[in-house]
Amino acid sequence: MSLPVYRFAPSPNGHLHLGHAYSAILNYEAAQKYSGRFLLRIEDIDTARCTPKLQANMLEDLQWLGIKWETPVRRQSGHFEEYAKALQKLDTMGLVYKAYLTRAQIKRFVAEQDKRGTPWARDPDGAPLYPGDHNMLSQQEQADLYKIEAPYALRLNMAKAIEMVGIPLFWQEAHGGKIEAAPAAWGDVVLARKDTPTSYHLSVVLDDALQGVTHVLRGRDLYDATSVHRLLQTLLNLPEPCYEHHDLILGDDGRKLSKSAKDTSLRELRANGMTPSQIKKRLHL
Ligand code: GLU
Repeated sequence: MSLPVYRFAPSPNGHLHLGHAYSAILNYEAAQKYSGRFLLRIEDIDTARCTPKLQANMLEDLQWLGIKWETPVRRQSGHFEEYAKALQKLDTMGLVYKAYLTRAQIKRFVAEQDKRGTPWARDPDGAPLYPGDHNMLSQQEQADLYKIEAPYALRLNMAKAIEMVGIPLFWQEAHGGKIEAAPAAWGDVVLARKDTPTSYHLSVVLDDALQGVTHVLRGRDLYDATSVHRLLQTLLNLPEPCYEHHDLILGDDGRKLSKSAKDTSLRELRANGMTPSQIKKRLHL
């Protein structure tokens, strides 16, 4: 059997916190335990929020924790053309459409539905499903927006995609058995935008495949997203990794940690004299 390949894939749009340390250490130690490989991948497709400075800080924090990774490190911002190619493939399959509704328009539509007593469905992250341009805009309005190249998102036609792959679709969850994917719960997810030819969902499945990742070990907050990832893997003929979603490290208030909270950022803890072994102890590792 080939060696397992683990990865830690942070987005440098803020400072790493205890939750990231937990995920990074779990992946690094699993790779060591099973004589596998450990990769670091920088998920910086949001080039406005992911700055070189934040990225440098992130690498420094990981080094300080004692984590070592293979080089060169894959930075997603350097591979937009590859993601665009995969998007093109999905488009050729008739699965991608330009969606013009603005956030405000979606909000208005959803509020109207809710007011009527027919609450509009929300995705697992709590965001309303995309209503579809035809529900809000006349054919003429749609044609005009197309003509002036108004800002748009490229969305996946979820119903058609599900029909194409056929259900049920499963993933293998370590310690959890075979889990049935439920991609429909996400509606027509964004695959790219007018100015960014990819999205988290698209680039994460492409990179996991390209880098030969066999084990995706990540936080429970991404558990539901795995349904979308399995769907895209199937559509794009990509191999299926094994998944494990670990518990999240919560703050003293019982809430998910945030990248902007100072008290749990690794930099802050380090500045206050905490050592890497104390961090591990605090994380029960
Ligand atoms: N880049 C994602 C994040 O920072 C993680 C992606 C993943 O592990 O699949 O939340």
